[in-house]
Amino acid sequence: MRKVKDLCKHIIMLAPLLFIASCLNSKDEFDVDKILGSENIVDVMIIGSGPAGLSAAMHGARSRLKTVVIGEDMGQPERTTWVENYPGVFPKVLGPELVKSMKKQAESFGAEFVLDKVTNIDFSSWPYKVETEGGKTFNALTVIVATGVSPRNLNVPGEQEYSHGKGVSSCAICDGPFYTGEDVVVVGGGDSAVEEAIQLANAGVKKVTVLVRSYKMRAIPIMQEHLEGYPNIFVKYNTKVKEILGDGNQVTGVTLYDTIAEEEYLLPVSGVFLAIGSEPNTDLVKDAVDLDARGFILMQERKQKTSLPAVFAAGDLESGRNRQIIIAAAAGVQAGIDAFNFLTEVVGLNTKARKKLKKFYFNPEVTFNFVSEVEVQKIENMQSFEKQVLQSKIPVVVDVYTEHCPSCIKMLPAFNAVAKDFHKRVKLFKVDGGQASDIAQKYSIQRVPCILVFKDGKLIDRHNKAMTRKELSELIEGVLATPAAATE
Ligand code: NDP
Repeated sequence: MRKVKDLCKHIIMLAPLLFIASCLNSKDEFDVDKILGSENIVDVMIIGSGPAGLSAAMHGARSRLKTVVIGEDMGQPERTTWVENYPGVFPKVLGPELVKSMKKQAESFGAEFVLDKVTNIDFSSWPYKVETEGGKTFNALTVIVATGVSPRNLNVPGEQEYSHGKGVSSCAICDGPFYTGEDVVVVGGGDSAVEEAIQLANAGVKKVTVLVRSYKMRAIPIMQEHLEGYPNIFVKYNTKVKEILGDGNQVTGVTLYDTIAEEEYLLPVSGVFLAIGSEPNTDLVKDAVDLDARGFILMQERKQKTSLPAVFAAGDLESGRNRQIIIAAAAGVQAGIDAFNFLTEVVGLNTKARKKLKKFYFNPEVTFNFVSEVEVQKIENMQSFEKQVLQSKIPVVVDVYTEHCPSCIKMLPAFNAVAKDFHKRVKLFKVDGGQASDIAQKYSIQRVPCILVFKDGKLIDRHNKAMTRKELSELIEGVLATPAAATE
């Protein structure tokens, strides 16, 4: 007994020393002096440029930290219309306008934006190495993960087959204009389903049927009330989708199951819009930080901290968060504050340290070989299309987009850059599919962006997705390498 007591005494006496030693260790691990000489140092590296990322960027840059955002689009608000629950913005604001303004605000304080995609983060030593598809590596002193969520799949027969421009979509604002005068269904009963239905009704769709799997909608009452003003929107409760049907090229209907009558029946439609919730985009950090059973990030200490030091998270990918723009924005600011505290308290980043780091900080002009962008010419009508595309002597790549499609806007810089890379060897044009409906009809465009490739006046390839600069380059290299006869 006495021995145990003595042991306890020793442990109690040693505890402060152990504590100091562990502090010294962690201080050592995050020592600024150790990283002098590293390239592309960033104080706050934000991955994702939706409301959470943009708000974190505003705070980081306003705190005079080297703040860089890597992202391809501005998140869910880019795909929405009116936002009427963002405090202080009365009576309402368009989602894309709201995030554009957030970006401008962050830029005004000095936040820098890199249009690229993070492919890997090496968390094995600090500073963390953030690698991008464009081949760049950043040394991040802190990382804020704000990559949001992606639409969930329905997992029924026909869904995969008719995705990618054949009638199944998760973006009414992008693809709605291609269903003018037709009947479609929206699957889901949440706020997103209501929004999608309204966007489709406004896009001129003849009849929108909202399919709700239970006896009630999950959407909040005020959102459900918005549906009442639309005579062409109908809600079917207790209805599950069993299968998506089509003719091989396009959706022609859905097999539905009435869970009360226990009956299966067919509903002819030409479009299926999914709004059944989302999955977290946490692949980049899934092996480094603690996640919940559904893959959302578990936050620590009622802050925006993850389980890994110097790594923070904010927005829709947080476990247990309600998904609202204002909540993501507030979490982004808190993540910015947490990153600032970490840098000043743990790393010891003060004015003196920042001076030492100055020449090692990321500088876009040095890091990137800036390609002056070529503004790709827009084709307005069929007459011009025939002349410029079908009669061209060199291959032509056409990007069919619509004005409100976020992934189309996201792809434009890559498209412009590729136009310069392949100048005089290949022609690139863009066509607004919502405006030039005759061209969209002729090439059966059901989803944007849609990349059409022409050689010797013939359509030889098409891709119904946003493509990166690398993917576009590979596509064009392939076309140039193909002998003319093989493409006939
Ligand atoms: P939700 O998770 O809120 O709703 C998903 C809906 O899809 C539910 O009705 C659910 O049914 C249904 N569902 C899920 N899986 C299936 C399936 N396999 N088959 C059929 N139906 C299915 O997702 P939302 O995207 O609508 O909203 C996400 C968050 O974003 C919410 O917090 C919402 O409030 C917010 N949001 C806010 C907006 C705004 O404020 N303007 C706009 C849009 C979204 P069930 O209820 O039976 O589970």
